[in-house]
Order: sequence, then C-alpha cells, then structure tokens
Amino acid sequence: MKTVEIIVPCYNEEECVELFYTRVCEVFENLPEHQFIITYIDDGSKDATLEKIKELVRTAKKGRVQYLSFSRNFGKEAAIYAGLSKSTGDYVTIMDADLQHPPELLVDMLDAIEKEGYDCASARRISRKGEPPIRSAFSKMFYRIISKVTAIELVPGSTDYRLMKRKVVEAVVSMPEYERFTKGLYAWAGYKNKWIEYRNVERAGGKSKWSFWGLLRYAYSGFISFATTPLRGVVYFGILTVLVSIASAIYILIGAINSGGDNRTGYASIMILILFLGGVIITILGMIGEYLARIYMEVKRRPIYFERESNIDKEVDKAKPEE
Ligand code: UDP
Ligand code: MG
Repeated sequence: MKTVEIIVPCYNEEECVELFYTRVCEVFENLPEHQFIITYIDDGSKDATLEKIKELVRTAKKGRVQYLSFSRNFGKEAAIYAGLSKSTGDYVTIMDADLQHPPELLVDMLDAIEKEGYDCASARRISRKGEPPIRSAFSKMFYRIISKVTAIELVPGSTDYRLMKRKVVEAVVSMPEYERFTKGLYAWAGYKNKWIEYRNVERAGGKSKWSFWGLLRYAYSGFISFATTPLRGVVYFGILTVLVSIASAIYILIGAINSGGDNRTGYASIMILILFLGGVIITILGMIGEYLARIYMEVKRRPIYFERESNIDKEVDKAKPEE
C-alpha cells in the first residue's frame, strides 16, 4: 500500500483545519489502495489554528495527522519547503488549507503517476471565477512575461497543488535557495508532468492572505529569481548607447568642420542627453542593486524557517497509519 503525504501550509486557518481533514477522508474512502498522512505546517498563525490541529491529532486515526509549527510567519514558500523536506511518503502533494485545491483531483493525479507513467501531476486552474479581474489580468501578464524572458516555462493558471514521486520531491528540496519560488523550481527541475485542469473554487472559510501588493511582490521576486535577462539587457543597452554616441560624434564633427569652427549650439540637446542618460544609469544601478541584494540574502545562508514545535518523527506508527 502506497502512502500519499499531504502537506498543508496554514496561516490563520482555524476554520479550515478540520473541514480539510474530513474532505480528504472522504476522498480516500474511494482509494482503498492508498493511505494518507496529512502534515499541517502552521506558518506562525495568530489564531487557534495550532490548537485545532492538535485537537485533530488527538481525535483522528493514529498517525494520520502530523504537524510542524513555525516560530513566526515565514510565508507559504517556507512552509512548502519545510513540508517537503520532512516528508517520507511515497507520493507527496501540497494543498491549500482552504479547500481551493479540490482533494478529488488526487484520484486523477494518482492515475497519471501510477497508470500513465508520469513523475508528477499538477493542477491547473482554467477559470478564475470569484477573483478580482485586475488580479487575473496581472497574473496572466506575469506568466506571459516570465515564460518569454526566462528559460523556465510557467503555464498560466498553474498552482502549487501537485502530486509528486519521491525523486521529484528530492529534486525540489535539493535546491536550497533562500528566496524560494516553488513554481519556478518545479519547472526548472523538469520531469514528466501531467496538467490536470479544474475550475476555480471559492474559499471554504476564512480570508485570503494575499493582498494585491503581496502578489505583486511575489511575482517580482519570482521574476528576479529566475531571470537574468535584465542584466544582459543592460549590456545591450550600453553597447547601443556607445554606437549612437559614436554616430552623433561623427555627425557633430562634420557639422563643426563645415561651419568653419563656429559650433556654439546645443544647450537643449545636451540637457536632454544628460537627463536621459542620468535616468537610465540610476535605473540600471537600481536593477543591479536588486540582484546584489539577492546575492547578499543568499550568502548569509540563514535557515528557511525555525521550528517551534512538531510531532513529526514522534509518531511511532507513522509508517503504518492504517493499522
Ligand atoms: N499561507 C501560508 N503562509 C502565508 C500565507 C498563506 O502558509 O504567509 C497558506 C494559507 O494558509 C493557505 C495557502 O497558503 O493554505 C494559500 O493562501 P490563500 O488561500 O490566502 O491564497 P489564495 O488562495 O488567495 O491565493
Ligand atoms: Mg486560497
């Protein structure tokens, strides 16, 4: 019997913890060949999430629910990393606590891996019903741009919800970067993936943790993580500027010779050029600074999260939760 380990990042999800467990149990009733373990990662919640999880540990079947609680809010990416690196199941999946990732898709995902020979199967949202239109528009634009300028291909509507074989999990965990953009890491790691489409589902309870600016920051950070194209663009721009200035130098020189040395013009053109190039230089420096800041954060080698408490490894019968 294969074990499916479900990692659930939770940040202030007290309303969803139990609901989530119930829904997953229902799905696995139709999957007699598989057993599951749910690993809740409490990402420094300020509400009763951790208490709810602990209560579930007591009431649920032994070994079915485990948890790890962070010392503070480290973000969903850190929670995903923690879950993946602690995981032991044959297959591992990541799901949102709010049930926006329908557990029913696991049936198709398991088929894709076990019957069709894929290494992983990922959920892809094909509708964005219930989402603010501006958010959808920006998100589409982001996927288009990042796929164009980086080597990785991100599919629009792709989510963090995917079922993976162990070797894929190990690949993702082996990339120890501090600023993590997991969707990009999946794409970078490769492997045979099947896309499984689904329609957007509204939250089961509680509120979304993402503000518009939060998402914009996430997109920006994803872009910087994978794209070095802007840096190369700077070099091209520099070369272009040099060529243009050589051409204009020749033009001015010829003009000066032809006018017999009387060449006192150009306050406007000089001002425009100085302002323009000054602006460009400051922008470029800022951009290089962004990458430098990334390097600075990475070389510190700080841990991605701190654990405050956990029951992982303490559950003696963990390997055989069905008994
Ligand atoms: N989440 C988290 N840490 C955070 C923010 C969110 O672990 O700092 C979790 C959250 O509890 C949920 C999942 O990430 O299980 C997705 O968050 P949310 O539903 O707020 O995002 P949305 O679905 O609106 O994109
Ligand atoms: Mg959600």
